[in-house]
Amino acid sequence: MKNFQVPKEIAEIVSTLIKAGYKAYVIGGCVRDLLLGREPKDWDVTTNATPEEIQKIFPDTVYENEFGTVAVKTGSKDLKLTIVEVTTFRKEEKYSDLRHPDKIEFTDSIEEDLARRDFTVNAIALQSANGKSQIVDPFNGQEDLKNKIIRAVGDPAKRFNEDALRLMRAVRFAAELGFTIEEKTTAAIKKSANLLAKIAKERIRDEFAKIIMSDGKGPYNGVLKLEELGLLAHIIPEVREGIGVGQNKHHIYTVWEHNLLALDYAASKNHPLEIRLAALLHDVGKPRTKAGEGPDSTFYNHDVVGAKMTRIILGRLKFSSKLIDHVTHLVRYHLFYYNVGEVTEAGIRRFIRRVGEENIEDLLKVREADRIGSGVPKAFPYKLRHLKFMIEKVRRDPTTPKMLAVKGDDVMKILDVPPGPKIGWILNILLEEVLDDPAHNTKQNLESRIFNLGKLPDEKLKKIAENSKKRKEEFESGIEAEIKQKYYIE
Ligand code: ATP
Ligand code: MG
Repeated sequence: MKNFQVPKEIAEIVSTLIKAGYKAYVIGGCVRDLLLGREPKDWDVTTNATPEEIQKIFPDTVYENEFGTVAVKTGSKDLKLTIVEVTTFRKEEKYSDLRHPDKIEFTDSIEEDLARRDFTVNAIALQSANGKSQIVDPFNGQEDLKNKIIRAVGDPAKRFNEDALRLMRAVRFAAELGFTIEEKTTAAIKKSANLLAKIAKERIRDEFAKIIMSDGKGPYNGVLKLEELGLLAHIIPEVREGIGVGQNKHHIYTVWEHNLLALDYAASKNHPLEIRLAALLHDVGKPRTKAGEGPDSTFYNHDVVGAKMTRIILGRLKFSSKLIDHVTHLVRYHLFYYNVGEVTEAGIRRFIRRVGEENIEDLLKVREADRIGSGVPKAFPYKLRHLKFMIEKVRRDPTTPKMLAVKGDDVMKILDVPPGPKIGWILNILLEEVLDDPAHNTKQNLESRIFNLGKLPDEKLKKIAENSKKRKEEFESGIEAEIKQKYYIE
């Protein structure tokens, strides 16, 4: 038997337990990954010693929860090994809430412990002590590893009824490992899909995020699999609205296919979760905004509608508000028009003012995923390169009130007025002028502009400020409907 490389901290915990007269094994995902030649994410040990006995044997421990898990501190600097979870063998328990076993029953038998685990590839125990390795594999997990199969341990229907999160875990492991789900397990998932409704959203979110963050084709295949198994309807039903929804002459894919392909591209670029989610959701508003049919159908406002939907979807899945804001912003502004020679430097500055400098890079990533995911070769790569060049060119130009050469204090001093809306009106008017031409952004120029603007009646000032705001909104609402119609923006 091959001797598997187990870190010395883990080997030490196992041999300490064995020396004290107990059984002990490395177990779960780390054994699976080790046998696959992948690097384990964390290490788990299982033993017939009770939590009390484990705590007596190891000097530095924390008793974590009622599930019989003791966290053993190893002093290792490697974060994966600093704390190792040592869990007492457990038996199959009754689950009345589909998630938590009603009570924990310890057992002396590793086979019984393996029988309560979810999938055969996760139910392999490895004993690696004194330079020797021994494997306990009563459900032929090694065979399934070899054939790349996710198969429930025992009766699949019963296992999914005990804990419905396993429905998502099956897809997650298939996505992460590039495995297929075995036939009977597949049938049981389809039959039990509705049980997902009873699972805490946070747990669904975590498994979903793991699918979206998996390597290679994992995210693409994973979301397709969720749909095929009837699970997606309980996670993001809104994405399903794009199924079978054809687009216009600029697209060869349906909305659903296009969103998936955009996600696939974002994943292939190793982009972070936010970008991948924005790619998946960027056109989620299209089905609800579609007008007409066939080559001339339109999707006006799908960016605005899609952003609203994105906020609802991610909020329901209990993502952090920081992530929700960011992804929503990316979906809201994914649609920008750029054509070489047509958009001026002032236009680019307004674009930056609108989306925020800090978001430009992410927005370009989403845009690129959108383009590649459309499957229609266009002259866009050159356009995007040119846009990047233009952004670089105007990067240092002032695009926010903070970047003006004067502050609100200056306005109050020059005009001898107290704080009030007038200050904001004037700063906004100045910013509009500076966005048009950054050469205006000198203290001397702006101070004299303040002096002159101060002579105008408040009503007039307010109107000019509102006009410039309107100009901004016009821009925001899709960059001039006219251009939009002429050139078509998806
Ligand atoms: P990862 O690589 O993501 O850590 P893992 O297989 O280690 O994957 P964990 O969630 O860390 O997954 O769980 C460790 C082990 O505990 C699993 O391999 C499996 O044997 C068992 N397990 C975890 N969750 C369940 C569950 N819901 N039902 C049955 N067994 C489970
Ligand atoms: Mg694990």
